[in-house]
Amino acid sequence: MEGPTVRFLGGVREIGGNKILIEDGPDRVLFDFGPSFSPRMEEYYVDYLQPRSTCPAKDLLEFDLLPRIPGLYSKEALGDSDLAYVPPEVSAIFVSHAHADHAGHLRLVDPEIPVYVGEGTRTLLDAISSSTTMKYGEHPWRVFQDATPVRVGRIEVVPYPVDHSIPFAYGFLIRTSGGTLAYTGDFRQHGPRAPDTHRFFEAVAREGVDGLIIEGTRAGPDPRRNLTEEGVRASVDRVLDGHRALALACTYPRDVDRLSTLHAAAVAADRSLVVSVRTAHLLTQVAPRLPPGTVPIPGRSAGIEVYARRKLKSYVWERPFLEQALPADEVSRDGRRYLLALDFQHFPELIDLRPETGSPYIHSMSEPFSEDDVSDHVMHNWLDHFGLVFHQMHASGHASGAELLELIRQTRARTVFPIHTEHPEAFETAGPTVRPPELGKAYPVGTTR
Ligand SMILES: [Zn+2]
Repeated sequence: MEGPTVRFLGGVREIGGNKILIEDGPDRVLFDFGPSFSPRMEEYYVDYLQPRSTCPAKDLLEFDLLPRIPGLYSKEALGDSDLAYVPPEVSAIFVSHAHADHAGHLRLVDPEIPVYVGEGTRTLLDAISSSTTMKYGEHPWRVFQDATPVRVGRIEVVPYPVDHSIPFAYGFLIRTSGGTLAYTGDFRQHGPRAPDTHRFFEAVAREGVDGLIIEGTRAGPDPRRNLTEEGVRASVDRVLDGHRALALACTYPRDVDRLSTLHAAAVAADRSLVVSVRTAHLLTQVAPRLPPGTVPIPGRSAGIEVYARRKLKSYVWERPFLEQALPADEVSRDGRRYLLALDFQHFPELIDLRPETGSPYIHSMSEPFSEDDVSDHVMHNWLDHFGLVFHQMHASGHASGAELLELIRQTRARTVFPIHTEHPEAFETAGPTVRPPELGKAYPVGTTR
């Protein structure tokens, strides 16, 4: 095909795993590169059965769990895969945000290919890789600035911040020699950075793009309740107001907005938010990249403490927090003073904490997709065992189906490619321009071809 094209190598009829390849003559730019959350992956790799660290790309290519792109993967990741190693043929990778389904495959990439991220995302990826088993590999990292064009050969990319359930998320305007695209990344418009999302879509409308590549996580049937971030705050306030015992909460580990919301609610109820050492590390790293006072910093801000989980050894990155950390007996003795953020995998701490029967457990995450979700079942077993009262309250990281259709209308894009969705057909009411992409097929950019 002559002229620039766009191909969708992941995120097609699935949530997560976006891999969008834009080619313009010799220039090839990939947008996002992470594993999808689709059941396809779990057909082969589940729990501790994972690709070998000596040749992860080979092990994923075996089951078509990665696209066969020559000149993308590192020699090490491919090992002796039948996709032979060749020097880089991909000019650059742009990462919209630090969620695993968008950045989690970077460690497979040839270390000579530059990776473009926002400054805050760079900080987040560092904080995550220094405190978890998640690794992103060595790359020439390039930090882009808001609304400042970046040129990669014939392709020009303009990053715009958007509101999402992790800070420093971006959408992109992408100008090629034959037309213009917009790619939303993941976004919402009911969180604290909603004005960013509006400014991005205004820029997309002004540009008059040929193609709009839009995420659709919540398109189609979605019976799950959704609040705004302010709605979550009001709901947490109501729960804390009625209780004089230890309160517990759980949320996504990188949802900095939610941690700030929980902190503000705790302080208003004369409590401190108690977080894990890992969360303390993350907040400390990202706070300098966010407006002062918006993120609580353990050891510096009032109303935030660190929980000392029972552990045999500590890592170097944990040590700055351990001296002041509160052990279980201290938290449970004075439970009324604390809102403890306790991750699911740390539930055995409840055996030491022994919260009073009737203590609230605030589940500030998505409700399970299916009725037979195993961890949901296990979570409720624990809550029942300790007599904890479950409260569901969450603000999604994604715009609703109705909002997506309205935003599409405002952009007046000539073609709409719904991705990162299990229900591309839900976009059909947006007009005849909707084109649910086929995996791997090349679509021309622009209207003249
Ligand atoms: Zn995301």
